[in-house]
Amino acid sequence: MLDLVFLGTGGSMPTENRNLPAIAIRFEGWIFLFDAGEDVQRQFETAQLGLNKNMAIFISHMHADHVLGLAGLLLRFSLLGRQKPLKIYGPKELIEFVKVNQSTINLGTTFETTVHAIEPGLVFQEGPVNIRAFPVDHRGYALGYEFTIQKPTGEFLPEKAEDLGVPKGPLWGKLADGESVALQNGSTVSPDDVTGPAPKPLRVVYSGDTRPCRSLRDAMISADIAISEAMYTVEHADLAEERGHSTAKDIAEMALESGVKLLILTHYSPRYFDGTAILEEGQSIFPNTILARDLLHLQMDKYGNSIVIKSGLMPPTKDQT
Ligand SMILES: [Zn+2]
Ligand SMILES: [Zn+2]
Repeated sequence: MLDLVFLGTGGSMPTENRNLPAIAIRFEGWIFLFDAGEDVQRQFETAQLGLNKNMAIFISHMHADHVLGLAGLLLRFSLLGRQKPLKIYGPKELIEFVKVNQSTINLGTTFETTVHAIEPGLVFQEGPVNIRAFPVDHRGYALGYEFTIQKPTGEFLPEKAEDLGVPKGPLWGKLADGESVALQNGSTVSPDDVTGPAPKPLRVVYSGDTRPCRSLRDAMISADIAISEAMYTVEHADLAEERGHSTAKDIAEMALESGVKLLILTHYSPRYFDGTAILEEGQSIFPNTILARDLLHLQMDKYGNSIVIKSGLMPPTKDQT
């Protein structure tokens, strides 16, 4: 199972009910954190994401609302005695940012931290998880991320294995795991002989701040989940263009064109109070749109066959401006 938890859903500044952007994916003992807005450490604790997990952090761009929580999170890990190394990926300025934080505010170093300046392309690979960065159109260098779980083979079909004379037992397990097996009669059976068509890899696409752009739309094609900022409604389309953001309409139109299964809008301006206007604008174009709220938790199987909202899609509450 894969868990997706929104730790912060505000844009520009926090409000009473919304922290700044941070999204965690938990999968097979790993935590993948996308952006680290202010106070992410407290939300990390509230969501019970653990201390000593394998972990990688991906920063979309160097604006304060996406990165100010990083030092606090590192400090928390140090105070609690984290041991496992931590990898951080993002724009090149991130290297200096982390170095200055480490040298000036006594972050401590109970664990190894490495910061990688990245360009668009494949930036992370571990087991079945691939993470690719792609450029987006904001103010300055900004990236979106595509999280993919590859599955090597299709569903195991026992009747085909029986037809080919593979005895039931460990050999079935090997074939199901993608290994070829040799039979006593000298023949070899490959996984392709006994599995159905390989399913599409599960894909979650995240963009931090961006104007609508082709690279985001292309990344969204057939994604299981697309998560995007939606800072404004069309009423403020001029501000969106000027400040390098999108309207809910912009993003919903891209979701519609690209065949996304589920669109999650986040990072909306405090001026929209509970976000109803953002949600309604998105849903009017792409009905399968939901609005992220802090601690919204979705769970899905690793093939993307089911997406379940576990908690956090609560009724709107008024934010403070
Ligand atoms: Zn932002
Ligand atoms: Zn920004």
